[in-house]
Amino acid sequence: MQAATLLYHDVVPTGQLDSSGFCGAVANRYKLTCDRFDAHLFAIATCRNVTVATARELLREASNRQCPGLFSFDDAGVSAITEISERLEAFGWRGNFFVPTNYIGQSGFLSVAQILELHERGHVIGSHSCSHPRRIDELSDRELQAEWAESSAILSDILREPVFCGSVPGGFYSARVATAAEQAGLKILFNSEPVCRWFKHGSMWIAGRLPIVDHTPATKAAKLVSADPMTVFREQALWNGKKLTKAVAGRFYQRASEWLHRHKYRSRKVSVDDSLLSLVLSNDRRTTSSE
Ligand SMILES: [Zn+2]
Repeated sequence: MQAATLLYHDVVPTGQLDSSGFCGAVANRYKLTCDRFDAHLFAIATCRNVTVATARELLREASNRQCPGLFSFDDAGVSAITEISERLEAFGWRGNFFVPTNYIGQSGFLSVAQILELHERGHVIGSHSCSHPRRIDELSDRELQAEWAESSAILSDILREPVFCGSVPGGFYSARVATAAEQAGLKILFNSEPVCRWFKHGSMWIAGRLPIVDHTPATKAAKLVSADPMTVFREQALWNGKKLTKAVAGRFYQRASEWLHRHKYRSRKVSVDDSLLSLVLSNDRRTTSSE
């Protein structure tokens, strides 16, 4: 099975970054303005080789389709219903929305009634854990079980049917994270590896996703959802570089990332992760010398 799944977060009116989802410099990097999202949808609609599907359709039809495109949205910010769903529906499409259940009903996030409304309009609702932990891969087995099982139970109660899919918060996928999700009954777990081919973890499918950030051009979104080999390959190279940086920089990676985004770092010539690496290493030295 394979699919070109785009990974979005929030879509907000210009100048209203804090109106939906998590707030802060890092979260804002993943929020698109309504205008840019509209441009993405128009560009994708003009791709002749793209058919948009949902995770539910793929699970039903198995491998009958040739690499369809999927829209996925993490964090369940209120823009899922105020901005995103109607725009998708205007093209006859439906999205896949992943909910961190501890945030249901909080300011800027979907309420119970809004989650149910999205479901009734044909969108897929999945788990995004309960607490959206900073590093889900570092939780104990018992904590992992609770994150997937409790969030799935809460959403199943709201939808009045079993939740069958989820997505990994923060992209911190591991085999332990997947095993706990499978034990909670999920059939598809989306992570953030920029790949189109799905693979099995026990009885559950693991599906990669192609990242969208605030400045992703519409032309690139269209190439990603078309599974354009060179565009997908570039994303994989970037992702592998980021994983290496995280492995080298360890716990200072997140702090450095937040610092960079707070200062609106936007170099087009030097890769962010190259710069992160040098920054975190100097940060490491400063911290070590001051402790
Ligand atoms: Zn998230």
